[in-house]
Amino acid sequence: MGLIVQKFGGTSVADLERIRYVAKRVGKTYDQGNDVIVILSAMAGVTDRLIDMAAQIAESPEKRELDVLLATGEQTTAALLAITLKDMNYPAISMLGHQAKLVTDCTFGNARILEIGAGTIIDLIEKRNIVVVAGFQGCDINGNITTLGRGGSDTSAVAIASALKADICEIYTDVDGIYTADPNICKKARKINTISYDEMLNMASLGAKVLQIRSVGFAKKYNVPIHVRSSFSEEEGTMVVSEDSGMEQLVVSAVTHDKNQARITLRKVHDQPGVAAKIFSPIAETGIVVDMIIQNTRAEGQTDLTFTVPKEDFSAAMEIERKVAGKIGAEDVLGDKNIAKVSVVGVGMKNHSGVASIMFNTLARENINIMMISTSEIRISCVIEEKYTELAVRVLHTAFGLDKED
Ligand code: ASP
Ligand code: MG
Repeated sequence: MGLIVQKFGGTSVADLERIRYVAKRVGKTYDQGNDVIVILSAMAGVTDRLIDMAAQIAESPEKRELDVLLATGEQTTAALLAITLKDMNYPAISMLGHQAKLVTDCTFGNARILEIGAGTIIDLIEKRNIVVVAGFQGCDINGNITTLGRGGSDTSAVAIASALKADICEIYTDVDGIYTADPNICKKARKINTISYDEMLNMASLGAKVLQIRSVGFAKKYNVPIHVRSSFSEEEGTMVVSEDSGMEQLVVSAVTHDKNQARITLRKVHDQPGVAAKIFSPIAETGIVVDMIIQNTRAEGQTDLTFTVPKEDFSAAMEIERKVAGKIGAEDVLGDKNIAKVSVVGVGMKNHSGVASIMFNTLARENINIMMISTSEIRISCVIEEKYTELAVRVLHTAFGLDKED
């Protein structure tokens, strides 16, 4: 028995039949004597449709109003689940973000959680209610409705779990856990039983789409154990928890890939103080996130500088850099959208040498050229030609002993 937060994603509440199924699942947990708080996403596709409707009216709809609009998706599912639970004779009550006292800053569309007044929910739980909270939304100190960014109901769930000191935060989704690689391209990928917050953070930023990355940062900070599992089966999924010594036995835990990258090179930049600042400041000002950066060694007072940006920001970044190049006297700006980043991630890397050389040798055997390399304590990433992504993921998965047995 304990306090359990259960979050259901959009596909799990996509229609009334699935909502009924969710209600049964919630009811079962409650019947076992647990206190249950449910966090819901909007029905699959609804948030996109709402955004689309607003876009048909105005080119850039006012963000405050957009949040009022988007929050209705989660309002709908929260109410429907509470109605369903009550119809099944459970004492359920729905709550919107402001009712759950989820206070955020004023950044409409991507608000950060400042605090959660847990008292209201605690009172209801103590009276053995099932509390159903609309995910993805909060309110700022002026009472405006805010939303937490796409995929934000994961963060709502983890935040509420931490504020209420829940025993576990279960994230129910349409996959049965986190895999050692994307099972769509790597048939031998295995489900991971336990993974650390840091590994998950590294994987999320590399394109694993299961959890909103902010929720993992939150979980790490407040030490909330997350269980990612399927809402369509009873099987155990993947536990995302703080690191323990056993985890280091496995050197590499997963191979990830990210095709959403593009590369920009400034040729023959003067190698002197202030140049990098001139190249990256205007990019940062527009809010474009630069990922990898490499600078060549100097030759005759000049150097090449290469970096990557998300594909959708490529044209904007190229335009900025062409202007910068003119100002700082760089010879040329080159761009390449046909790249991908493949990475190996694992906390075990901290205590093992030779991971990089296995990675490079494995790619070399397949004649895959490495264009850029970056490393962190628990990750090595290589930028390669996009067309080799699948091949690279598969051979690395095998090389690091991750393949499942037939
Ligand atoms: N409904 C929101 C979205 O689609 C939030 C979420 O599902 O987590 O991004
Ligand atoms: Mg999601």
